[in-house]
Amino acid sequence: MLKNDMLEQWDRENFFHPSTHLAEFARGNVPQRIITGGTNCHIEDRDGNKLLDAFAGLYCVNVGYGRQDIAEAIAVQAKELAYYHSYVGHGTEASITLAKMIMNRAPAHMSKVYFGMSGSDANETNIKLVWYYNNILGRPEKKKIISRWRGYHGSGLMTGSLTGLELFHNKFDLPLSQVVHTEAPYYFRRPDLAMSEADFVAHCVAKLEELIEEQGADTIAAFIGEPVLGTGGIVPPPAGYWDAIQKVLEKNDILLIADEVVTGFGRLGTMFGSEHYGLKPDLITIAKGLTSAYAPLSGSIVSEKMWKVLEQGTDENGPIGHGWTYSAHPVGAAAGVANLKLIDELNLVQNAGEIGAYLNKVMAEAVGSHAHVGDVRGEGMLCAVEFVKDRDSRTFFDGADKVGPQLSAALLEQGVIARAMPQGDILGFAPPFCLTREEADEVADKTAIAVKKVLG
Ligand code: PMP
Repeated sequence: MLKNDMLEQWDRENFFHPSTHLAEFARGNVPQRIITGGTNCHIEDRDGNKLLDAFAGLYCVNVGYGRQDIAEAIAVQAKELAYYHSYVGHGTEASITLAKMIMNRAPAHMSKVYFGMSGSDANETNIKLVWYYNNILGRPEKKKIISRWRGYHGSGLMTGSLTGLELFHNKFDLPLSQVVHTEAPYYFRRPDLAMSEADFVAHCVAKLEELIEEQGADTIAAFIGEPVLGTGGIVPPPAGYWDAIQKVLEKNDILLIADEVVTGFGRLGTMFGSEHYGLKPDLITIAKGLTSAYAPLSGSIVSEKMWKVLEQGTDENGPIGHGWTYSAHPVGAAAGVANLKLIDELNLVQNAGEIGAYLNKVMAEAVGSHAHVGDVRGEGMLCAVEFVKDRDSRTFFDGADKVGPQLSAALLEQGVIARAMPQGDILGFAPPFCLTREEADEVADKTAIAVKKVLG
């Protein structure tokens, strides 16, 4: 199959690639890389290049590539029963077992898990559940959702609206009117450099309170946020941020949705980011790390408080009118069961915490003092380097300079994959949890070489 030398041409003629500059692709200016295999933290392309994937695909291949245990579990399930639906009480051993394993790991106040296929559809489910909940409680006006600028919650109509990045709104007539955005907890880009972390948290709280006041608390249903902003630039919140935000939400009877698509199942060195930051969410979104992307599967974990109201709703209105054909797909569920077992057996949550801290340390040592490095930040197995034109004033490079993409290309030349984040000159790192110290050193050393090459 891989000998086919028509692949590049077929690709250009037939394949509509997501998140791709379509015109540049057609002109041949976007590299076509055909990936053929992978083991642990490395992937291979069909030209025989072996690359250290320091972004774990799209921060999803958390256990690393080539895990035969998961592949076997998928094969066994596909042979025995590739599909049956989960409507009206149907299930499979894999989907029921996975639900149990998820709830064993979730915060104690959570009650049930609803399965989907992607992070986007899980967040669509969450918003529908929030609306259903408020309708059952007799408050049909309480429907707006607060999201943060620089948040990422998906690419659907509602979830693309929740996403606080212009690229995902432009020319799509988004955001929808039910979504309002508030300040990102982005301390490095605080409005006044003299602000301490505590001052900046107070500023974020004041902005949120202002927005609630302006819109009216009785029109706002929920607040959605990633424990650590991911696609918006890998930005851990300043100390005390989540405690302060949760107080405002409680006061105004606003539900909290923790989008743990990136942080769920260990990336911060704890099973959930909610644990890490003391969050008490009403809904938790899970995807990526649930199966380490060996098969598409996602979920919405629902709190006991919400569950009781949803149950009551079906007593009044009949079965809940929300279902996907592939909800709890048996092959995805089998992948999830094998993946969560492997995470436990290999102690990967602990490894993500330890090696992640080491990666952040060696990255800061390797590039932190460079004249164009404004910030090196991270949490667990997430790390980012933000580049600035001038270190003191923190001015941005001209967008046309494409500093981020140049840096990721310079890393790729050395066999390391990092991600130029979509907004700002930020290099993101989110390796598989099985990263070794030697590999962390390699990523940091090669980043320093790339920075020197591109920025002098
Ligand atoms: N939420 C977060 C925090 C994400 O990072 C992503 C994907 N990067 C999504 C939701 C959407 O997930 P998907 O691409 O699987 O729809």
